[in-house]
Amino acid sequence: MSKQIINQTQNEQTILKKFVDSLDRWLTSEDIGINIYGCVECNQCGEACAWYIETGEEKMHPKVRADFIRKVWKRYKTPMGKILGKLGIIDSPNVEDLRENMYIYWQCTLCGRCTLACPMNISNRSLYRAMRAAYTESGLSYENPTIKSIIESTEKVRHSFGLSRDYVFARPGLFLGYEGVEVPVDVKGAEYMFVCPSAGNTKIPELGIKLIKILNVAQINYTISSKVTDTGTEIDHIAVHHELSKVMLEEWESAAEELGAKFVVVAECGCDVRTMYIEAEKTLGRPFKFPIISIDTIMEQAIDEGKLPVEPIDESITFHDPCYVVRLSGRGEEYRRFLTKIVKDFREMTPNREYNYCCNGGAGGMRLPENTEKRRKISRLKAEQIKNTGANLVTTPCAVCYLNLKDTTEVYGLATSDNRKARMLFEIVYDAMMKALKNRNEEYRVKIPYVFKTMSKEKQIKHSLSGFMEQLIQSEQFPELLKKLKDDPNVHAYAKENPDFWEYFNKIEKEIMSIHNYLTYGLKIGHWVEV
Ligand code: SF4
Ligand code: SF4
Repeated sequence: MSKQIINQTQNEQTILKKFVDSLDRWLTSEDIGINIYGCVECNQCGEACAWYIETGEEKMHPKVRADFIRKVWKRYKTPMGKILGKLGIIDSPNVEDLRENMYIYWQCTLCGRCTLACPMNISNRSLYRAMRAAYTESGLSYENPTIKSIIESTEKVRHSFGLSRDYVFARPGLFLGYEGVEVPVDVKGAEYMFVCPSAGNTKIPELGIKLIKILNVAQINYTISSKVTDTGTEIDHIAVHHELSKVMLEEWESAAEELGAKFVVVAECGCDVRTMYIEAEKTLGRPFKFPIISIDTIMEQAIDEGKLPVEPIDESITFHDPCYVVRLSGRGEEYRRFLTKIVKDFREMTPNREYNYCCNGGAGGMRLPENTEKRRKISRLKAEQIKNTGANLVTTPCAVCYLNLKDTTEVYGLATSDNRKARMLFEIVYDAMMKALKNRNEEYRVKIPYVFKTMSKEKQIKHSLSGFMEQLIQSEQFPELLKKLKDDPNVHAYAKENPDFWEYFNKIEKEIMSIHNYLTYGLKIGHWVEV
């Protein structure tokens, strides 16, 4: 046998060992007792899974996915499996088999709908999470370029899309600078520390604009942290890299500790809701140090206390229940209650609440480009659900659900890219708020955050996004960053709705580029709001 073949074999054995050891580490006693051994092979779970219903592919059946895990586990971790495997009486899955089956665990959104149909209450999603962790810990998931880049970007810059902190802040910094709206940054003693998942600050610019204005109007005592630009959503739910998830959560806690915040606020992100309410304790091996509050709870409380004026909007609206927020975190009724305060014509989808069909985008469904064709095919079910309500808009409190609903409504001809039908829930709150503010001539209230009211001007500049921008434009990398922003599709989308924005942008660009000494000049520009 050549040296190369011997090395290859040793390498494969190492991968297999790491894989099985990882499964051993992450499968709980409940996984083994119920999810591995409890299946009575009735196949009912298949009737609940959109990936199976719409494709009919055997490997998309929840039980078939789970059976491969059972096979690996029984062969390598049970005494009988070890004997029978060595005698060649049962199969011994090898690394090639693991590779061949890898995709089936990412063509699943870990939505948990199959468990609802199971008479034995088997949690396939729990088994698949352990499987994803094993692919990651054995190194096999690094063979997928998207998963590899999520892990490496998180390791390098703590942002799963690889955006630098400066870029994450500069984009809303430009938009809000143009609109004269302020955001508190690193304010010690603020009650709430607001954090945003990478999908939100990469793909949904409205999060950094409309949500900030709502917080300002509602006089919420909040701050953002310059140290947290991602929440670890993709690391926890796509890569299922437990070690890195732990580091992200600990860094999140340290940032809140440094600021002396009382609460950590999770944005409208289903995965974050699930992580913070359920997974964090498992990942950390102890409770998260801060109480968690959802941004939607804060907005609803502000409405109830009369701090956030709203007038229900006229558009007819349906609601998509995010699996991670409703089926897996039990928050369906809260949203029905909330919607009655901001919407006149609400129309339920069928089925709804915990029985709702998944958006098919979460936990990698949308993020992995190789899933696109199949994801769009199976989203026919979701498009039908939306269409049958006859509503003009569909809203949801989850960033990834929103992105997928936007895509699905466009693919199935219910909307166009110029005429969005999908909305984040906070956008509906925003419309209801702006309606009320307009009627009261109080639109100015969007501009100044609560924490600035008692701060000196110097302190405001030090702790504002405009102050952060002033610093940033003095840095050497700013011209390069501005170039990137100029090509950013989100900047173009914003400019489309705000035609004067390019004039503002070009003015900054011209001044920065023509004067090489922007080191001092930046301080004099004064493009950003006077606070
Ligand atoms: S968790 Fe959801 S997507 Fe995955 S197999 Fe079950 S029903 Fe299908
Ligand atoms: S529904 Fe439950 S018991 Fe039936 S095949 Fe699926 S996992 Fe097994």
